[in-house]
Amino acid sequence: MARLARAHGSLYHLSSWISLKLAVCTRGVVEYRELGRSGEKVSVIGMGTWRIGVFNSAEERQSQVDALRRGLDLGINLIDTAEMYATGRSEEVVADAIRERRDDAFVATKVSPENLRHDAVLAACERSLKRLGVTTIDLYQVHWPNPSVPIQETMSAMEELVNQGKVRYVGVSNFDVELTKRARESLSRVDVVSNQVQYSLKSRDVESSVLPYCQKEKLTLIAYSPLAKGSVRSMPIPEDLLSKHHMTPAQAALSWVLREEQVVAIPKAAGISHLEENAASASMKLTDSEYRTIEAS
Ligand code: NAP
Repeated sequence: MARLARAHGSLYHLSSWISLKLAVCTRGVVEYRELGRSGEKVSVIGMGTWRIGVFNSAEERQSQVDALRRGLDLGINLIDTAEMYATGRSEEVVADAIRERRDDAFVATKVSPENLRHDAVLAACERSLKRLGVTTIDLYQVHWPNPSVPIQETMSAMEELVNQGKVRYVGVSNFDVELTKRARESLSRVDVVSNQVQYSLKSRDVESSVLPYCQKEKLTLIAYSPLAKGSVRSMPIPEDLLSKHHMTPAQAALSWVLREEQVVAIPKAAGISHLEENAASASMKLTDSEYRTIEAS
């Protein structure tokens, strides 16, 4: 009898797992939101690439390229990289993924804080364009503020790059509200469209001022480390809630970040299975009370 009950229990778990996998693979895939006030649509789930470009073999590198291409196939257009990631090799992997399908991708990269003087911004941009194999960067972001360089100087270089057609939109990252305002005031013909900041169930500091400011001013908040570097997968989100929506803890965490209209998220996934799982979360909408349950987990 006990053996029968155990067998029944295993079958139950197996069938829940299969229905979860089916839901993950077949759910309508990606949604899009406007980037700032640009009129440009970016996928609500983007592809983060920190540590992409770190590999031990040609096969490992190819699997990183394949994962990014799979993301493009699913309709994910936003790819986030930086000159700093893997000392430029992340941008080179992105280049391989978007070759021959440039129009499917919205390429966001970042200039490092040590390159924020006027001429250094221009030179860093040239290097990124070359590594990415593109003639235009869709979104060029200041990676971190550098208090020893006046923001006006950095922004004048960013605007010059837009005027030259080398950059389409200007963004910032890790900026507080005050510095974002000063960055915007330093621009004349263009505006800042986004602020990329850490935002997840485990890191909610931006809710006090950065997020409300983005909502009021219609800047996009690009949420980095939205899975709290993978640690959300072990959060004790109630099983009945997950099974009701056929979702995994990671998907619940991404859906929670995306409950705010002004937010898009850029989880990093090295392989296709995590990537597909994350992409599917774009269409998973929960009620306010369910989001509160997740917050309390
Ligand atoms: P994250 O996206 O919160 O977490 C990535 C980790 O979660 C990886 O270990 C990944 O494993 C795992 N993961 C992905 N999908 C999963 C799933 N469905 N289930 C379980 N685990 C999953 O952390 P992050 O890489 O720090 O942040 C994402 C991106 O934000 C970066 O890649 C980068 O582009 C950007 N970022 C920007 C800044 C900035 O200063 N602007 C700072 C940090 C990060 P696998 O890789 O094995 O799939």
